[in-house]
Amino acid sequence: MRQLFPSAILMALTAVTTIAFVPVILTPTLAVVEVAGSPTELTYPTGSGPSAPVAPSETVVVNGIRVHESLAGPLTALLADARADGIVLGGWGYRSSADQIRLRRAHCGSSEYAIWRMPSSQCRPPTARPGASMHERGLAVDFTCNGRPIAGTRCFRWLQANGARYGLYNLQSEPWHWSTNGR
Ligand SMILES: [Zn+2]
Repeated sequence: MRQLFPSAILMALTAVTTIAFVPVILTPTLAVVEVAGSPTELTYPTGSGPSAPVAPSETVVVNGIRVHESLAGPLTALLADARADGIVLGGWGYRSSADQIRLRRAHCGSSEYAIWRMPSSQCRPPTARPGASMHERGLAVDFTCNGRPIAGTRCFRWLQANGARYGLYNLQSEPWHWSTNGR
């Protein structure tokens, strides 16, 4: 028993680790982006990260913006590079599934249908179904520009020009919403 016990723990840990990394293993796509005029070649994962809502314990805070740990590196670089260009970005990232349900109640209505099944486009403002938001994966950020709405600003144009270098893409109907898959 003395000898078996540690190996049982090791096997359990291995199983947990394997499960945790399955989504990453299944989507190993890496986008290597060469940026004109830049001395460095940037490599950021595209389409990686969790494929379902995550627990708060899998998230970290980057300059006040909570995101999934897989997005922390790219977001840190994005915010720093923006700041170097005089662009001050803030915003909100991760929200729990409970938060998403609260938003659906507020934006879509309080019936079971409104909360769980009504198409996002019928809510004001449009709000993804619980379980379907990239914010619940920690892979979306709603950006602000100097603490103000970003639509039509220099900040927005900077993100349009540079966001993809950091694996962030805009949802066209929402200038503030940027995620790892544009949804
Ligand atoms: Zn958003």
